[in-house]
This record gives sequence, structure tokens and C-alpha cells, in this order.
Amino acid sequence: MASKVLDLFRRRPKRPREIEKSEVDWREELTADQYRVLRRKGTERAFSGTHIYPGERGRYRCAGCDAQLFAADAQFDSGTGWPSFSEVVPGSVDLKRDFRGGIPRTEALCRRCGGHLGHLFRDGPGPDRSRYCINSCALTLDEADADPSDDGQLQ
Ligand SMILES: [Zn+2]
Repeated sequence: MASKVLDLFRRRPKRPREIEKSEVDWREELTADQYRVLRRKGTERAFSGTHIYPGERGRYRCAGCDAQLFAADAQFDSGTGWPSFSEVVPGSVDLKRDFRGGIPRTEALCRRCGGHLGHLFRDGPGPDRSRYCINSCALTLDEADADPSDDGQLQ
């Protein structure tokens, strides 16, 4: 019985990611900034990146694995200097408690590749107050992914 319990603990590995690569491969495929953020949990300087302001169309994808993460119309201007979103594409982002720096925060990770995206705060404008504060270099904008029902799409 006891060994069975131990077995359960042993068999609770970290959930494998759909995309698993060696650090060497990541380093080769990503830019230096992307690697520092996605794989080393770095943070880009406020107002230093792209896509800081809303108004784009389409979807933002993970710069590491191309998974769809955020609809452009979920973006809002938080004034923080980082792209901010009120919601994620369902099932695309994992959340994890993060105590680095001595401040408890909620880390947002790409579910598909485990890449660090940024953090979730609860000071957003939506009904559940979510603000996903995301490093812009962790994102690529896919304008082809715009919702065809959006105004102006057929122009
Ligand atoms: Zn990813």
C-alpha cells in the first residue's frame, strides 16, 4: 500500500509539453530577446517592444511554437508599456504561482511549449479584472487570422 502511494508521487511528473526542445535548439531558433523571455523568464523593458497598443487585427501567436494565444480584439491599453489582454484563447495558456523577486505573482506560460509569456494581474477592465501583461517579443501577430465577421475585413 505504502509503495503504491509512493508510486503515485513518482508518477506525477511535470505535464509533458506538446513542443519539447533542447535549450540548444531554442537558442538557435529564437532571437536573443525571445530566448531571454520565453526560456529564461526575462522581462523586456516597458515601452521597448512592439504591439504595445491595441488596434491590431488578427491573433497573436507564441513566438516559440506558433500556438494561438490572444485575439487582437482582447487587447487594451493598460498604460504599462507591455501588451495587455483581458482574455486568452481558451486552453492556450497555463498559469503558475511565481515567487521570484519576492513578490507572489501569477506567471502566464504557453501551454504548448512552456514558454514564459508574462504575468496575469487582476487590475484589468473586464468583468473578471484579468490583465495578461505580456512581453511583446514573446508574440507574433498573425493578421491573416482576423475574424472574417469583423467590419472592414472584405474591403
Ligand atoms: Zn509556445
